[in-house]
Amino acid sequence: MNQRTHAWIALRAIKLLEDEGEVPRLLELLKPFSQEASIGAWIPDKRDAKLGGAQTQNHVFKIGVCRGPLRYRFIVSRTKLKNRLGPERLITGFLNKYKTILDNVWWRESYKADPSPGKHLANRAMALTINNIDMLILGNPQVQDLVPGRIRFINKVPTPTRCPAGQATIFFFMLSHFIADSLMPCHCDERDLSDYNNGLHMQLEKHWSRIVGTYFDEDKLTRPGLDDNDILNRAAAIDAKFGIDFEKRVPDMKSDDVWEEMVMLCRASFALASIIAPPDQWPYKPAPQKMAPYDMLFNQNQQGKDLLAEIDRVIMHDAVLNVAIIWKHIWTKFH
Ligand SMILES: [Zn+2]
Repeated sequence: MNQRTHAWIALRAIKLLEDEGEVPRLLELLKPFSQEASIGAWIPDKRDAKLGGAQTQNHVFKIGVCRGPLRYRFIVSRTKLKNRLGPERLITGFLNKYKTILDNVWWRESYKADPSPGKHLANRAMALTINNIDMLILGNPQVQDLVPGRIRFINKVPTPTRCPAGQATIFFFMLSHFIADSLMPCHCDERDLSDYNNGLHMQLEKHWSRIVGTYFDEDKLTRPGLDDNDILNRAAAIDAKFGIDFEKRVPDMKSDDVWEEMVMLCRASFALASIIAPPDQWPYKPAPQKMAPYDMLFNQNQQGKDLLAEIDRVIMHDAVLNVAIIWKHIWTKFH
């Protein structure tokens, strides 16, 4: 996903949590920095002169067929994935709907990602989750007032070294980036057709950013003086363009493990990629690779157009919901 889509997803998640009303103090932390911290949502893709870790290909989870010795460990049945993700995520219904494309034989196969060290998407999300919890623990007095509970040793930590609210918020936005990327099917599929420069990946991202619209562009969103309520209302107004109708409830995470949650989301995204480009026509590696151009998949007939509208809704709905779920999960650690 590109910059404006990432910004929209994070801002929409704030609005969803506000509408739900279960974590008002988390909203008190995040909402006043809706504008200032939104840059955090696209920092992980920013390439800078100080090279560090930021770059699109530095956080992926590209899954393919597993042929290794422990391959039985990497089988996830449709039932297990369905139960793990729950009915609130639209991907669950989507995978069920297309079970003729991905039949039981497909689900009995072993699939695995093998990201290079430091580039593992679930690792990046888990690391930031723990970091964010620590930032709240070591928050400055304003943050301390918002976070439930009392830190006994906090008075021994000088205030200038503690984390201010705006800084904590920008790190929440950064975490939203990794969560949203796990919903991008091309980030979770090792076939050449999903490479950024092979058409489908880039064009899907452009398509989504056209729908999100220019209000969430970096230069517009960073203009001084925008009103936080206005930003969030504009984010909510995009729902209709994706055909999304959010429930007001943000479910709890089923496990206590953001790493595993991310891996399961990536599994679901790999399955979605395999529905868009079924493996009987676009085989997995090591078979010779075929491209799946965006226009061929989505622009040739009404069926393709309907499928595109459907995945738009599923992916964007779930990206926002998953950000809200994991942010809320961090906050509930303090209850
Ligand atoms: Zn990214």
